[in-house]
Amino acid sequence: MERTALYEGKAKIIYEGPDADTLVQYFKDDATAFNAQKKDVISGKGLLNNLISEHIMGALAKAGITTHFIRRLNAREQLIRRLDIVPVEVVVRNVAAGSICPRLGLTEGADLPSTLVEFCLKDDALGDPIIAKEHILTFGWASAAEFDRIVAETHRINKLLQDLFATIDIRLIDFKLEFGRASDGSVILADEISPDNCRLWQVGSDEKMDKDRFRRDLGGLTEAYAEIARRLGIDLPEDISSGSAEHTT
Ligand code: UDP
Repeated sequence: MERTALYEGKAKIIYEGPDADTLVQYFKDDATAFNAQKKDVISGKGLLNNLISEHIMGALAKAGITTHFIRRLNAREQLIRRLDIVPVEVVVRNVAAGSICPRLGLTEGADLPSTLVEFCLKDDALGDPIIAKEHILTFGWASAAEFDRIVAETHRINKLLQDLFATIDIRLIDFKLEFGRASDGSVILADEISPDNCRLWQVGSDEKMDKDRFRRDLGGLTEAYAEIARRLGIDLPEDISSGSAEHTT
């Protein structure tokens, strides 16, 4: 059946769900970086992110975090709650890496004095500029109560994810969250949590097991994502677990 996409992002497509309160989130194989100046298709990435995000959202739900995830529908799609997305990307940093290094003159891998939560406006045309709490409140992107809830929930999620990844010998360096308003007005976790939007380093070697493999042309992206999935106890289809799926176009 032909479906109409409500929204197409860089790595996902959102379709109408079976009822008014739901949507279908489709994971593409597309990889982009540097505000989509670098692009490729990496076979198997969407499938891996769908499975990994399902697993992580499930683990968070068990720990008492409300999320938009309802259930996985198939290899590439999940049913999610329809939310009014807060147009703010919440970036959590436990260790210096990525854009904060040139911005503040930090060395990749340097410890931060404490966990840092940053905010970017979700606007590709503007290149997702970094913003402060004052911008969020002044422009009404979230209310003060919503902002406080987002920050508190973000710290809880960070602790849960750090613990989860520590059990599989992975350091959670940084990651990005998005939140949205449900029909009852509550603000809950949205989007995905996968190696596309987390930096994940192997304990001991600091080998990169995340999208930096694509950003920096290191190769082996699906192998790294599949390794994360395997360590989380996720059953993978044969063509993915054998590593034969990866090719770039
Ligand atoms: N991130 C993301 N989407 C974005 C920007 C960042 O998922 O549009 C994630 C990124 O994968 C990393 C963290 O947020 O885990 C911090 O990213 P950073 O600001 O360093 O940006 P980058 O240079 O990685 O684009």
